[in-house]
Amino acid sequence: MEHHPMRAEALRTLRLDDTPLMLSIDGQAREGESRFEVIDPATAQPFATAPEASLAQLDEAVAAARRAQPAWAARPWAERRQKLLALADLLLQDLESLAWLITLEQGKPLPRARDEVARAAAQLQRLVALDVPVETLREDAQGRVELHHRPLGVVGAITPWNMPLVLCVPKIVHALLTGNTIVVKPSPYTPLSALRFAQRAQALLPAGTLNMVSGGNDLGRALAEHPDIQKISFTGSAATGRKVMASSAGTLKRLTLELGGNDAAIVLPDADPEAIAQPLFNAAFANSGQICMAIKRLYVHERLHGAVCEALAQRAKAVAVGGGFEPGVVLGPVQNAAQHRIVLGILDDARERGARFHAGGQALDREGYFIAPTVVSGLADDSRLVAEEPFGPVLPVLSFTDVDEAVQRANASPYGLTGSVWGRDVPAAARVAARLEVGTASVNQHLWLDAQIPFGGAKQSGLGSEYAAQGLKHYMQAHVVNAPA
Ligand code: NAD
Repeated sequence: MEHHPMRAEALRTLRLDDTPLMLSIDGQAREGESRFEVIDPATAQPFATAPEASLAQLDEAVAAARRAQPAWAARPWAERRQKLLALADLLLQDLESLAWLITLEQGKPLPRARDEVARAAAQLQRLVALDVPVETLREDAQGRVELHHRPLGVVGAITPWNMPLVLCVPKIVHALLTGNTIVVKPSPYTPLSALRFAQRAQALLPAGTLNMVSGGNDLGRALAEHPDIQKISFTGSAATGRKVMASSAGTLKRLTLELGGNDAAIVLPDADPEAIAQPLFNAAFANSGQICMAIKRLYVHERLHGAVCEALAQRAKAVAVGGGFEPGVVLGPVQNAAQHRIVLGILDDARERGARFHAGGQALDREGYFIAPTVVSGLADDSRLVAEEPFGPVLPVLSFTDVDEAVQRANASPYGLTGSVWGRDVPAAARVAARLEVGTASVNQHLWLDAQIPFGGAKQSGLGSEYAAQGLKHYMQAHVVNAPA
């Protein structure tokens, strides 16, 4: 099949064959012990290779991070902030190349890949504006008790494939701003944009501060087990999160786990189906549904159920799906073959259970891992599509009769990342939102994240939080200093 000329131009300009991307260890660009192929999900073909770090190279990276940490921590907070702000400039200067890499490796349309780079820079800027000052907990005739926060040492970061930069850069910022150094392992499916960023960042940071090693799941396990790493910040599936927790137990590492979600949205009877259809559609289908906090279950009051299904199905049928370099494309492919199979298997299960398909329901008849945007109704809450996290462009729309029932069904999940409630009476909707067992509950919006507000999952969606001073403190050791008067 002919690919869009812009894709060819991106590949020509990036010159990934002549100048392959490298590991970053101790300030140096290093070749891996071997190289592995990276596949473009829009073609299902490899288009580049990435370095596979050996366990010895992981040790080198951790040792370099450990050596660099005391001097980095000794720099004043304001100086670390300035260094990190230079990384935001780097992201913005290199935006187009990074966006090309994201589209090639992850599949999302180029304008959305550009947004991802810009968002990573904006989150960085908002995060570094924060501070974790010393707090006075008590001051009286007996003396003064202060709460300080100290860096932990070396942070290990492990990231997934759905947002290769926006889930990687903030971990680097949390770790470095708070005086830690870091070793990052990006997803083997989408290592390239992160590797490029880390490689270019070396010129702006002291050697050993930011190290990046790419490789498979075993490398992730070795990172989580490593005795010289004090904390793991992991974003990925709940299944892997449990393994990371077990691997970290040997050295009682601090953990931030940002895991899966099966986010519910509740549409109350006073909502306006036409007004909410587009934002609901975006919140379920953006990034082809591959967002941890996308809407994955939509509970609609029975009076509006038909109208909402219809409005969503219209959009699902009309939306432009295709390769990320094709102009006008809104939704790209599912990122990898395994995930593609999982989503199709979930759709088969829905078909066997007699679901009604309002739109989509099958793979697109073209190369690559494309699935037609799918809107389904008539499923019970114990069907796979409702009970599991599908992580694809597929939305079940469920009907409810009273609000208590909707809240109970929304909460009947082991996950609790985010949720939303939609209705004209905002205070009433906010009261319902307050009953959702989640980390973030929104009214008349979803997919909401602000780098100065804490973000973290309830129940099995995670442990700890990122963003805001609260998120920064998860990368630090609370340290009470108690001095008599
Ligand atoms: P994944 O869990 O398969 O992989 C994530 C990372 O973990 C990869 O780098 C992988 O190599 C590594 N890994 C795998 N096995 C490991 C092990 N035993 N020890 C250490 N590391 C290991 O996740 P994924 O499929 O890449 O990403 C999709 C999942 O991520 C979805 O469940 C999604 O909801 C979740 N996610 C969560 C958030 C959030 O903030 N809560 C954000 C984005 C994605």
